[in-house]
Amino acid sequence: MKSNKQRRLEIKAKRLKRAKKLLELDTIHQIKVLPQGAILANHEELKHNNTYGFFPEYYVDVSYTCCDCGSKEIWTAKQQKWWYEVAKGNINSHAVRCYGCRKKIRDEKARQKKHMEEMAEKEPHSNEAFFKGPPKRIKPDRSSRPVRFCG
Ligand SMILES: [Zn+2]
Repeated sequence: MKSNKQRRLEIKAKRLKRAKKLLELDTIHQIKVLPQGAILANHEELKHNNTYGFFPEYYVDVSYTCCDCGSKEIWTAKQQKWWYEVAKGNINSHAVRCYGCRKKIRDEKARQKKHMEEMAEKEPHSNEAFFKGPPKRIKPDRSSRPVRFCG
């Protein structure tokens, strides 16, 4: 019996193989035969793009390599439709990071935001001025110095 993880890996490998082939597909001009798993694009929902280019007629699963961890990933047709048509992503944008790496960035941003909110609510230190840096340097008055001549 295969474990769930093994089965998931097999399914992923199969989809990756298929997505690699689909990369060469011209989704803008080839509409006669829809490839397996293709999802039709709704051009009404793509109107937020200010472009002279063409919109795709459909989306297909595409493979990509995560730019952070280098893992081979699939950007599914369904995810693309959501990104371009629901989230109104730019038509020229593509998936570059895997879910894990995106989550890491999202979590880090959330952590920083939380920290800043906590700091804003914190009572200021009794000697707050001390932490705001050293007092501004006062330029020495050079007018009273004796003039030295050279040579
Ligand atoms: Zn990654």
